[in-house]
Amino acid sequence: MSLREDKSSTAFTPRITEKRWDHTLENRIFDAWEQNKIYALNPKKGKRLFVIDTPPPYPSGTWHIGAVAQYSQIDMIARSSRMSGNQVLFPIGIDRNGLPVEIYTEKLYKVRMRETPREKFIELCNSALNDLENKMLEIMKTIGLSVDYASKYRTDSADYRRLTQATFIRLWKEGLIYEATRPNNYCHVCGTTIADAEVEYKELPTRLAYINFKIKGTGEYITIATTRPELICSCQLIIVNPTDQRYLSYQGKRAVLPIYGREVEIKAHPSAKPEFGSGAVMICSYGDYTDVLLFRELGLTEIIATDEYGRLTEHAGPYKDLSASEARKKIIADLETQGRVVKLENINHRTPVCSRSGTPIEIVPMREYYLKQLDFLPNLKKLAQTINFHPDANRQILLDWLNSIAIDWPISRRRVYATEIPVWHCKSCREPFIPLAGEYYRPWRDAPPIKECPRCKHKDFEGDTRTFDTWMDSSISALYVTKYQRDEKFFKQAYPATIRPQGKDIVRTWLHYSILRCFQLTGRAPFTHAWIAGLGMDEQGQAMHKSKGNVIDPIPILERFGADAFRFWSASEAAHGSDFRCSENRIAGAHKFLTKLWNLSRFISSFPQVRSVKLLPSDKWILTETERMTYQCMKGYEDFNFFIAASELREFVWETFASHYVEMAKPRAYGQGFTKQQQKAAWYTLHTVMKTVLLLLAPITPHMTDYVWTALYSKHSIHSQQMPEHTGRKAKPKITDKIITFNREVWKIKKERNIALRDPLSIEIPQWLKPYRDDLIKMHSIVTEG
Ligand SMILES: [Zn+2]
Ligand SMILES: [Zn+2]
Repeated sequence: MSLREDKSSTAFTPRITEKRWDHTLENRIFDAWEQNKIYALNPKKGKRLFVIDTPPPYPSGTWHIGAVAQYSQIDMIARSSRMSGNQVLFPIGIDRNGLPVEIYTEKLYKVRMRETPREKFIELCNSALNDLENKMLEIMKTIGLSVDYASKYRTDSADYRRLTQATFIRLWKEGLIYEATRPNNYCHVCGTTIADAEVEYKELPTRLAYINFKIKGTGEYITIATTRPELICSCQLIIVNPTDQRYLSYQGKRAVLPIYGREVEIKAHPSAKPEFGSGAVMICSYGDYTDVLLFRELGLTEIIATDEYGRLTEHAGPYKDLSASEARKKIIADLETQGRVVKLENINHRTPVCSRSGTPIEIVPMREYYLKQLDFLPNLKKLAQTINFHPDANRQILLDWLNSIAIDWPISRRRVYATEIPVWHCKSCREPFIPLAGEYYRPWRDAPPIKECPRCKHKDFEGDTRTFDTWMDSSISALYVTKYQRDEKFFKQAYPATIRPQGKDIVRTWLHYSILRCFQLTGRAPFTHAWIAGLGMDEQGQAMHKSKGNVIDPIPILERFGADAFRFWSASEAAHGSDFRCSENRIAGAHKFLTKLWNLSRFISSFPQVRSVKLLPSDKWILTETERMTYQCMKGYEDFNFFIAASELREFVWETFASHYVEMAKPRAYGQGFTKQQQKAAWYTLHTVMKTVLLLLAPITPHMTDYVWTALYSKHSIHSQQMPEHTGRKAKPKITDKIITFNREVWKIKKERNIALRDPLSIEIPQWLKPYRDDLIKMHSIVTEG
């Protein structure tokens, strides 16, 4: 129903004069919040401290619209918590360590990291980061993020890196960190070892080659199926399944490697799958994880076929220095010439790839530092049960990951722009030396912490040039923001953090590593609640990728519809935890709702505010409906579920309040044929409902609600108010449906008869609507008999 003006309304002028909500006002409202510092932590006695372990975002160019939506919702956690009477620590950190900025810097300045002096390259990364960070902060402010900008921190600051290094030093002393040479996932593009958590699987097309290997002394052949024939030089064993009838007679015999002539054993092992390829498999160092496990299980000697640049080593003989794919082509051609290739099959092979570069990873033994995690799995599983997950079902993502972990966490990386590993080695005996915790160390340029090696008396030391996996930094964000080792009194009060909000995509990395690291350091979980958001997809539900051309830039959308519309969309689009589709149309829909709300508040702003008066049944009805809606919203807020709050509010404001109550009460508010008392009752009710709606919506659409609130109700910001009390009323009043049905019926009849809504109509008002009779008669211009 439109809010029609009529003659008697001229006596009432809206106090809100603007006909339309102008979202360019959002910037000005935000500046006022900043000036009044309403978001700085303001410790007051008797208030509960609520700590948000905000994910420090990584500035790498355009900010993903899904991430912008996620941070909008994290802001709703902060705002609703403040309005529930807590003092809220909502810190913002910028995660600046790691590979993406190195790659970005190489492109931006047209340099190569490995060919640029380290100091110079770090400087370039830093300046690239500053620009990216500023753009990101601008978006944060545009969407109204109520973080404490004045206390912004960076994970590449000396202060943060000092803490990362101090935790390393402590865990090293406790024996939880060790150095070892082990086969590891290695990405040639990133030039570094990566953890299992950062390996993804892609179905990639490849050729499965069936190759005949000679059996020693029998003149027979065994056919091996492999996708990696270039690794034949590193083969140490051939396995067949013990139950595979085809190969029973081959078990225990020896096969001769083609090209190389070396002999290897043929052994029965359950890892061989009779249904894959020929059923006979060569075990090389290293083609895949099965190879790694079998080399370990059977104590085989590894032969390293690929180097850290992805090229074949001298063990590959004629294929030395070729890339894996070049070598593969060449060896297949050579084997074909020798008549050893039985057939070539095109297949899709589930291939491990690097989650950052998408390159297939190699398994290469590298000397790395490891943080123990296997020993902690039982404790971590217990902790996972004590953390409150929102939604609860997402705990399983963590448990599944914990159940699949098979190795300790390799934490060293051969990169530059990250926290340095604070270790020096004796140049003579390689003994490692660790400095005292408390400083930020750069061993690649700083003097060693020791003058003479106590073991061999040598005086030359070498600083470690490697850096930490960046999750080593971000996994202690909960400790950093609660001032661990910097302000013990505050730490005691603030740790564990109240809530960890984050995306579903980083459960096995950020969530897992945070719990592991903080448990090792404090014996406790880092937070009480874990709030796991779904991921933003495109309109068709596909992940957004530059290569697919389906990336949606949030900036033009924010410019067009404003932050509040964007935020309302993000809260109301999908159930909390589910993936959501990003669509401009849907954001436009949220904008329409805000226009509706603006029109309503403008209409209500025409009427004076009065103290409690004797209410009519229509007033009592909508106030009961408001209580019910408040209860549902507050239930949503208690669970940090903004989908519930946003959906309830939209339904109530649009479908119940505006369409029915406001239309029923309008003639009375204008004083058309009612007593002064009855008119005042309508005014009172309209304002009471409006206030409640504004308060409940404030965490979701902070700008417009604050504007209306301060225009009508208070000189203090809505964000310093308390959420409305609720009475625990859960059920809809029975009369709601009856009122709605009757009104719809009248509108339908008028439409069918093609008469205007204000034209008179003769219709009987049912008995059960008798208490609402006077409002209904005026609302519909009902002509009553007698
Ligand atoms: Zn990579
Ligand atoms: Zn030494």
